[in-house]
Amino acid sequence: MTEPTTPTLLVLGAGPKALAVAAKAKVMADLGLPAPRVVAVDTHAVAANWQPIGGWTDGRHRLGTSPEKDVGFPYRGAVHRGTETDVNRGMLAYSWMSFLVEHQTYTEWVDRGRPHPQHNVWARYLTWVADRVELDLRVGRVTEIAADEDTWSLRLADGTEVVGDQLMITGPGSSASSFLDDDRVLSVSRFWDLVPTRDLPASSRAAVVGGGETAGSVLDELVRHDIMTISAIAPGATIYTRGESYFENALFSDPTGWPSMAAAERRDLIRRTDRGVFSVRVQESLLSDHRVHHLQGRVTAARRVEDLVELTLTNDGRGASTQAFDLVVDATGGQPLWFTDLMTPDTLDLIELALGPAASASGPTMTALEESIDSRLAVGSLTPTLFLPNLAGFAQGPGFPNLSCLGELSNRVVRGSLEEAGALGRPRAGVVRR
Ligand SMILES: Cc1cc2nc3c(=O)[nH]c(=O)nc-3n(C[C@H](O)[C@H](O)[C@H](O)COP(=O)(O)OP(=O)(O)OC[C@H]3O[C@@H](n4cnc5c(N)ncnc54)[C@H](O)[C@@H]3O)c2cc1C
Repeated sequence: MTEPTTPTLLVLGAGPKALAVAAKAKVMADLGLPAPRVVAVDTHAVAANWQPIGGWTDGRHRLGTSPEKDVGFPYRGAVHRGTETDVNRGMLAYSWMSFLVEHQTYTEWVDRGRPHPQHNVWARYLTWVADRVELDLRVGRVTEIAADEDTWSLRLADGTEVVGDQLMITGPGSSASSFLDDDRVLSVSRFWDLVPTRDLPASSRAAVVGGGETAGSVLDELVRHDIMTISAIAPGATIYTRGESYFENALFSDPTGWPSMAAAERRDLIRRTDRGVFSVRVQESLLSDHRVHHLQGRVTAARRVEDLVELTLTNDGRGASTQAFDLVVDATGGQPLWFTDLMTPDTLDLIELALGPAASASGPTMTALEESIDSRLAVGSLTPTLFLPNLAGFAQGPGFPNLSCLGELSNRVVRGSLEEAGALGRPRAGVVRR
């Protein structure tokens, strides 16, 4: 028989996902319901990746998603059956609307047509949530992730260790990498470092490599600079606009029927609506600018030739072509498996064991991990539990890696955390806690 305990849920990264889970745990605890103790660890601060310090934005660009998709959205469902109304009413205290009301800006926001906030305003909202839920935040860069048979431990750069029962990993990893070490090839973080001081290298022919939100923000900034042509390099036949009709949005907000769709349909929908697409707003601002062009291809090589950077672009079934630029931004986005570089060999072994034959000899692969994510948004069969919502899009719903259904994400994660601890009265098979 398993003793119910209050589990400690570690969250690597104090972004929107950490806050959604911490707010849900706070509301549940305030209602006298079992809830995990949430401990977030972040190199910098709450919402760092939405501010210049995180290296993904200068903070002045606008959120692509409506801010009403806040930490409680879609305000449906709950961990314990019968508590839906109380829990979701409690979550409203941490909503975007409550934030505006408290700052006396709600009326103005509505009258201005509900504009999407700048990233730094979104960061202020998330920081306000963190203060209100009294987030247990440890500031420090995680340099090592280790698991034994029933605990996770995060080692920080200053040598301290944070230990918990479960771990949720968030965020896209580092923005500091670029495919060529050259002052005319900028990583995303270098790009945003140079923008505020207007120190971007002078350029007449610029290229931005990547087709997602990261590249969209970079392009949105570059069109404000005096550059003759700007090429958006992405592998698709065109740059797609994010599908934002009711039918597409509904799949992001409510993933109920998602796992029963065919795998090929799910991959196709993610490609069409989420990966390699710009938001409607970014697309509109680029369309009206005659300097912006799309170049199809994957960058497979880059080299400096005198004052220019030559990029080799390849397309399936066609020969490679070479294009030269005097400024290149590598905005291909984060590395989905960035956290595996921090894991100890024993931890990687545990994960490979859980993945079974799907794992490759060189470690857990993206496909094997994505396919293993169960309804808790955790790696199936792995103890101690590892929640990977950023990899849950394919198996559980396209809204889990992004801001589309943070309230549903927190229901799944908190339920998974309590189940493992036996605090829901039905521990998962095979889970034995000391
Ligand atoms: C420019 C840009 C715009 C975007 N706009 C949208 C949008 O409008 N809508 C949308 O749905 N999605 C958007 N996204 C995608 C967005 O990243 C995800 O949707 C999601 O919100 C990220 O939230 P998160 O909680 O997973 O992590 P993040 O908010 O990315 O937080 C991760 C945190 O982890 C910390 N961290 C990283 N490494 C370490 C370490 N080693 N040790 C300790 N801490 C660490 C960072 O400091 C950071 O604070 C955007 C992404 C970018 C780059």
